[in-house]
Amino acid sequence: MSETAAPTVAQAPLGGRPVRPPLPTWPLTVVETFDVTPRMKRIVFSGETLADFVWTPAQDVVFRMTDETGEMVRRHYTVRLHDAAAKRMEIDFVLHGHGLAADWARAAKPGDEVIVAGPRGNTTINKDADWHLFTGDETCIPGVFAMVQSLPAGAKAFVFLEVQDAGEEQPLDAEADVTLTWFHRNGPPTPGSPDLIAAFADFVPPDGRGHAYVIGETSTVQTQRRGLIAKGWDKSQISAEGYWRPGRLGGHDHVRDDH
Ligand SMILES: Cc1cc2nc3c(=O)[nH]c(=O)nc-3n(C[C@H](O)[C@H](O)[C@H](O)COP(=O)(O)OP(=O)(O)OC[C@H]3O[C@@H](n4cnc5c(N)ncnc54)[C@H](O)[C@@H]3O)c2cc1C
Repeated sequence: MSETAAPTVAQAPLGGRPVRPPLPTWPLTVVETFDVTPRMKRIVFSGETLADFVWTPAQDVVFRMTDETGEMVRRHYTVRLHDAAAKRMEIDFVLHGHGLAADWARAAKPGDEVIVAGPRGNTTINKDADWHLFTGDETCIPGVFAMVQSLPAGAKAFVFLEVQDAGEEQPLDAEADVTLTWFHRNGPPTPGSPDLIAAFADFVPPDGRGHAYVIGETSTVQTQRRGLIAKGWDKSQISAEGYWRPGRLGGHDHVRDDH
């Protein structure tokens, strides 16, 4: 059972910063694991309380893990699928170099137990947009696919994704009208992703008001956001979030004007 009620944002007294109550927590047990691609491992979890889990596509949960010093640390992972009736949740882990979570996922096996908190995150579909533009690297595929698959038939989505090579591409079944473009960097992630940035910069928007979801490595996100603003996009049309950054352990970066 969750420890707390669904999250809300409360105002601190005397006009201070908003105080967020702790997120509900969910004890999970690994029931199945398999390789989605050579560098992406899907872990299927069960949890008695998952029948009560309510999320919006692309929201994440925060894994509570113990590092080598015994300290509790947090890692964010997007909910790829949630089945309330079956009390199951699926999460896709990128097996990048070495990190606490990536190493945990590599070794995960049925019976392993974890605790996650959530759901959280505001990088979710803007329902008022006429069309949608998504961009990111492997870490964003779970979120981008979940968002695109939540769009109704007739919705228009343009997706630019950077992966290591052709073996990392995944099929995307969606009702929406989707134009999906893959980029192969043919090596490990390069902050700044020049090919992705160049292709994104050349994007010619259709008529109507679009919304861009720019997520992934922080410096790439910063460059793409600045590029869109330079092309006349209003800041309110862009959701930008840094999912990882060289040297950063866990966490996430809000990408705003001061970055
Ligand atoms: C909202 C949100 C949702 C996310 N959803 C997902 C998801 O569904 N699936 C997923 O795989 N990741 C996802 N991420 C990214 C993931 O949280 C980070 O990659 C995280 O740092 C991985 O933790 P770790 O313990 O493996 O590595 P850490 O201990 O955090 O980092 C160790 C080293 O590895 C580097 N590193 C971390 N991630 C990567 C990477 N992807 N590629 C190359 N180097 C890296 C770090 O910069 C650091 O130098 C999400 C992040 C956010 C903020």
